[in-house]
Amino acid sequence: MNLSLNDEQRAFQKAARDFLEHEVIPYRVEWDRRESVDLAIVPKLGELGFFGLTIPEQYGGIGGDYITYSLGMEELGRADSSVRGIVSVSMGLVGKVILSHGTEEQKQQWLPGIATGRLIGCFGLTEPDTGSDAASLSTRAVKSGSDYLISGQKMFITNGMWADVCLVFARTGGPGPKGVSAFLVPTDSPGFERREIKGKLGLRGQTTAELFLTDVRVPERARLGDEGEGFSIAMHSLDKGRMSVGAGCVGIIQGCLEAVIDYSKERKQFGRSLASFQMIQDMIADMAVEADAARLLVWRAADLIEREQPFGVEASKAKYYASEAAVRAANNAIQIFGGYGYVDEYPVQKYMRDARVMTLYEGTSQIQKLLIGRDVTGVSAFL
Ligand SMILES: Cc1cc2nc3c(=O)[nH]c(=O)nc-3n(C[C@H](O)[C@H](O)[C@H](O)COP(=O)(O)OP(=O)(O)OC[C@H]3O[C@@H](n4cnc5c(N)ncnc54)[C@H](O)[C@@H]3O)c2cc1C
Repeated sequence: MNLSLNDEQRAFQKAARDFLEHEVIPYRVEWDRRESVDLAIVPKLGELGFFGLTIPEQYGGIGGDYITYSLGMEELGRADSSVRGIVSVSMGLVGKVILSHGTEEQKQQWLPGIATGRLIGCFGLTEPDTGSDAASLSTRAVKSGSDYLISGQKMFITNGMWADVCLVFARTGGPGPKGVSAFLVPTDSPGFERREIKGKLGLRGQTTAELFLTDVRVPERARLGDEGEGFSIAMHSLDKGRMSVGAGCVGIIQGCLEAVIDYSKERKQFGRSLASFQMIQDMIADMAVEADAARLLVWRAADLIEREQPFGVEASKAKYYASEAAVRAANNAIQIFGGYGYVDEYPVQKYMRDARVMTLYEGTSQIQKLLIGRDVTGVSAFL
């Protein structure tokens, strides 16, 4: 693994940071307070190429490698995790899944829109009664002639209110993972309804929804992969998604670090800068080390993906470590800001609220530890 960035990677990183400094950072507090980003940001992100990272040009993407992808997600996480989530889910959990598992017709139908931000995708796995135990999902897809009729409910779906297409995981066979199939469902299909979930602790600028499907009719050609392949498609997508969440968390830690460096040098107490106190440096040093450690874990996973090597456990390690470190960093950043850290004039309390969900979604920290534990012991703690 090469630990220094090449010119192209640096150029993308700089362009991404410049863009986000002007188009996202000045508005993030307003978007957070009103619980919605300005959707005009989506096509602008598309123009810069965020939605097209690692998607080939023939499908509307900008290509690029997975280190560039992780740099993009880091910059988005540093700027605003709500915006990072919109991109990560649409491009990473839908677009890239169509790229890896879709037919040529499905790629032509959806990818040029998703890779440019013209269309938004959402990922419908979680249900009210099945979160960590996703293989027990109960949404059903029943054959009706050459179509399927899909009925069920999905919970906590990022982009749910805005999405044009939902990757729905539904049961076509018996119980367990082998009975699950995946479908690309247009969200304007009759019988597809959605309700926004308001009042989230963090990620308030992005929409999260409950989805209700009642006899939603899709043709057989809307099925992604074969019948029974849905669960393994979901798990493969989430492995890559975990690298992306990890990269976003590196951005949160980096954002906290930059904020506390500036603030602790300016703010004076007892006639000295906060930065001159050893206990403040103790917290800043931890943050600096954890930013590097998390970034290196993410890059290792990205490098393995790029070289088409097995990467699932490495992605779990990166996601687990980076998300827990992001919560620690944001918590300590508030401590360093004192009372000022508790209000949203400064970015650190938003980092804290946004970081908190990172240890929950795309596999909780406990689930990541079970995956890592299974790998190192050879013994599965799952049933
Ligand atoms: C803001 C937000 C956005 C989301 N976006 C999406 C999305 O776009 N698409 C989607 O499909 N889902 C999405 N989710 C759902 C998310 O992936 C789930 O919330 C997550 O998988 C956990 O499931 P759960 O909430 O049902 O918790 P549960 O599975 O009920 O877990 C509760 C607690 O029990 C622990 N636990 C569970 N099983 C075990 C075990 N075997 N051993 C030890 N501890 C265990 C968990 O770690 C956790 O601490 C989102 C969630 C949120 C909050």
